[in-house]
Amino acid sequence: MADSGYVVDFPTLGFLAADWVAAHCVVPDGMNRDDPFMYSDWQLWDVVNHYRVKPTAKVGELATAFHNRRSQTVRPQKSGKSPFVASVVCLEAVGPALFAGFARRGERYVCSDHGCYCGWEYDYQPGEPTGMAWPTPLIQITAFSEEQTDNIYDALRPMIDRGPLHALIPKTGEEFIRLPNGGRIDTVTSNAQSRLGARVTFVPQDETGIWLKQNGMIKVAETQRRGLAGMGGRAWETSNAWNPAEDSVAQRTFESRAKDIFRDFPTPPASLSYRNKAERRKIHRLVYAGSPWANIDSIEAEAFELLEKDPAQAERFFGNRVVSGSGAAFDIEQFNSLARPDITVSRRSPIVLGFDGSRFADSTALVACEITTGHIWTIAVWERPDDVSEDDWEVPEDEVDAFVDDAFKTYKVWRMYADPFYWESALSRWSAKYGVKTVFAWHTNRPRQMAEACRAFDTALRGEDFTHDGSEVMASHVGHACRRDLTIRDDTGKPMWIIQKERRMSPKKIDACMAAILAWVARTDAVKAGIGRKHYAYTA
Ligand SMILES: [Zn+2]
Repeated sequence: MADSGYVVDFPTLGFLAADWVAAHCVVPDGMNRDDPFMYSDWQLWDVVNHYRVKPTAKVGELATAFHNRRSQTVRPQKSGKSPFVASVVCLEAVGPALFAGFARRGERYVCSDHGCYCGWEYDYQPGEPTGMAWPTPLIQITAFSEEQTDNIYDALRPMIDRGPLHALIPKTGEEFIRLPNGGRIDTVTSNAQSRLGARVTFVPQDETGIWLKQNGMIKVAETQRRGLAGMGGRAWETSNAWNPAEDSVAQRTFESRAKDIFRDFPTPPASLSYRNKAERRKIHRLVYAGSPWANIDSIEAEAFELLEKDPAQAERFFGNRVVSGSGAAFDIEQFNSLARPDITVSRRSPIVLGFDGSRFADSTALVACEITTGHIWTIAVWERPDDVSEDDWEVPEDEVDAFVDDAFKTYKVWRMYADPFYWESALSRWSAKYGVKTVFAWHTNRPRQMAEACRAFDTALRGEDFTHDGSEVMASHVGHACRRDLTIRDDTGKPMWIIQKERRMSPKKIDACMAAILAWVARTDAVKAGIGRKHYAYTA
């Protein structure tokens, strides 16, 4: 391990665990089927860390004997996660997965002392942590779908059936496995609410990058963690890189400040582009290092195929990079090509306004659009300076009022569409002042309406009657907007989508883009109402 950059300078049960696995588990499939299951570098590193023991550990301690409360492995497709997890399941089922004190000189682990008559023995180094099996292990292999739990379970059964463990566990069932010590191994999904997390001692949680609030899997993870805490058990998450807009269990675990979680997530340098073939190959070499069974040519073939359909997913799956949604919502180059800073909108022109506000964290934007020409410009954007903390800054509301008032005095404002979130009182003030038929609350959290507005804006960028003032802040917010597909579909069967930030707390704001979209909705409504044609025929 020394020459691979991994240094183990702490007590761990991991070397005993790795040797036990090699002596008891067999490779479940592929060219080396039935060979002893030997860990590759990254697998050994993960095991050594998951079973890292506190120097202060006492005999009788369960989870608390270990340095890490749980572990997380984020590795690309085909890097060997499923058989690896299956081997850890075997260890937690009948192997030395618990701390049993520090070894004295000459102490050995003898299988027959632990109910296994395979004849295997392991010599401890003096002071090395010693291991023992759980008295009654209850293991739940958990994933969002049965197809995913099958990935691990299908590796687990031959690993047991075709090797030395067969003597210990003579029958592995289609649905679950009974263990000689009275324990069992189950597979569960979110459908098994009643069984979730009950008296569990080990829970492999697979593909936590798609464990979301919307599909009930955040709750599953929390329920299982409570169950584990009660039993002194531990969890292990495995996943591909996630979409940072989705706030998945994997993302939460990785971003958590907790120091007692072991995380293994190798990412390629940001300077390498996944779209460039030669650089993509370098990326694959890096993230598949330590997975010698992964063929770089066939990885490239699969990645290339997926790149055409869903480039963000290809980069997450095979490049092991956190990439948002289906990427950018709008074609930023196309947007920039529509800049016309030379255009000035004359006083008394009929216009509409779009407004999206925040109070502390995000920015607040007021955007205008001339009805007759479709020319959009940024009136003002308020943003907290980087060096001021959220507690010390709030949008200057009187200043916002002044800019709104100025717009109403300078132009003929037909309508103002404003997201009322955080701004209800300002909105009532404005509609009292400028008219209830002029100032409208436009809730951007309505999925279908928002999706229609996004589509209209996207279409406008590719049409002929859209220009903008080329404001830098607007261009950056349009560029930051990420696309999120909804479950609802349009008339042609394509998923509808809305915009969102790359992730919840991201400093990359999108509020000016949101305000521009609202202004564009108002402008479209104005044209429908004939305001563009009548030009000056109404009074504001
Ligand atoms: Zn044995």
